[in-house]
Amino acid sequence: MPMVIAIDGPAASGKGTLAKRLAAHYGLPHLDTGLLYRAVALTVLDAGCDLDDKAAAARAAATLIADRLADPRLRQRAMGEAASRISSVPAVRAALLAWQQRFAGGESGAVLDGRDIGTVVCPDARVKLFITAAPEERARRRHLELTRRGETSSLSAILEDITARDARDAGRSTAPLKAAADAVILDTTDLDADEAFEAARAIVDRTRSH
Ligand code: C5P
Repeated sequence: MPMVIAIDGPAASGKGTLAKRLAAHYGLPHLDTGLLYRAVALTVLDAGCDLDDKAAAARAAATLIADRLADPRLRQRAMGEAASRISSVPAVRAALLAWQQRFAGGESGAVLDGRDIGTVVCPDARVKLFITAAPEERARRRHLELTRRGETSSLSAILEDITARDARDAGRSTAPLKAAADAVILDTTDLDADEAFEAARAIVDRTRSH
């Protein structure tokens, strides 16, 4: 059976970096599912619509094309916030669910990272990881990343931002952020990127061999 690795976790937990490295290590395709929600939000904004316009968001999700995922604006801090707002719309989630399951269902297996991969998108994934870290540490890492990219924002604003986003993502009624019952929880607060990767790889190898 193809190996599917489901990786979930709160904002700026490092799950994206880990997912990318695991995908390269095991030779699997990788999908950052947050990008899909960000692309839907960007499409809504580019069309001049309001983020509260549920019909516009549903239309954008139903007609999303892969080319949009390469837009550098998707990585901006404001787009994470915008994505979180449209992601609670059930019609948006339904359209993107089909997209994600097509990706995960390929012959080769896959690594997907997001908020509901282990619970909703790939409930039968062979390996499920839930990556977490203290909010202050996540804010510090995100701040460093944004500063490197030339986006200026204060550490306290980022902390506020990710705390609010986590609360909204965990509190929504459709597919909230949460660890699947059979997920292995990895807290990376005291781990650097290499240590986090080694810990995740060890979990995957252990789970795989069972
Ligand atoms: O992971 P990222 O920060 O790019 O995700 C942006 C937003 O998209 C999240 O805050 C969340 O609201 C939404 N999202 C989601 N389900 C996923 C991935 C992302 O609801 N599987």
